[in-house]
Amino acid sequence: MVCAVGREDGSIVEQVSIPTTEPSRCMPQILEYFRGKDIDALGVGCFGLLDLDRDSQSYGSITTTPKLRWRNYPIMRVLGTELGVPVGIDTDVNAAALGEAAWGCTQGLACSMYITVGTGIGVGIIVDGKPHHGMIHPECGHIPVNRRADDPMTRGICPYHGNCLEGLASGPAIENRWGRSPAELAGCEAVWALEAYYLGQAVCSYIYTISPERIVFGGGVMNQKQLLPLIRSEVSRQLCGYIQGKGLNDLDSYIVPSALDGRQGVLGCLTLAVQAREEARHEV
Ligand code: ZN
Repeated sequence: MVCAVGREDGSIVEQVSIPTTEPSRCMPQILEYFRGKDIDALGVGCFGLLDLDRDSQSYGSITTTPKLRWRNYPIMRVLGTELGVPVGIDTDVNAAALGEAAWGCTQGLACSMYITVGTGIGVGIIVDGKPHHGMIHPECGHIPVNRRADDPMTRGICPYHGNCLEGLASGPAIENRWGRSPAELAGCEAVWALEAYYLGQAVCSYIYTISPERIVFGGGVMNQKQLLPLIRSEVSRQLCGYIQGKGLNDLDSYIVPSALDGRQGVLGCLTLAVQAREEARHEV
């Protein structure tokens, strides 16, 4: 977990990393870090699933997560009570999407998406400048994709769905399929062609359903710089010319890497903090 202190202008004053262990060990470290720093508000980008229904009793709690000790943990309430400041919360990937929208390469766009491909696959959707939530929050990393017939992995690794996008294309899926980590497979063309086949399918589905004006990719797997051009090619091929849109004429500026060099999550949280402070002032 990254803890940081920043200013409204987007400058990060200081930052530390705390290992995500269990709440009884992790939370005291987080609280200790922020106490005495005279912060006005806190923004939290958290792994989930999260309850983001403001009318719910458990608003701001983690709900289902493979990290069992965090299940049903009321993270927002604990932080707000202990630190005595307004707290804004969203999913980690929505925070990154918000960071790009506020400070990065989707500024000024009404609708954009941020996709992180790492230990899992997460997608944040920005609509009219705000993360889209709907009923809970979108989980577009788990959409079904067609498994390629010659994929050497016969079943994807998602414990819920098997062959969903995350089950077939996350970092652990790559490692499971080829027996080596994505970094060790950098020079293997077949690895990245298959990866782009799956991510390209997902991007086409997102274009059909969400119609974003720009799509940003981040996450550890995207450190493989050869991957993004392959995704663009797959998107172009798989759309089959069906959709015509301004962005699609120039895929190099439609499907882009993050512009914020790993700071997108922290900057998104800074934006959540500013919003929480404004809301609290409004309520008073
Ligand atoms: Zn899944």
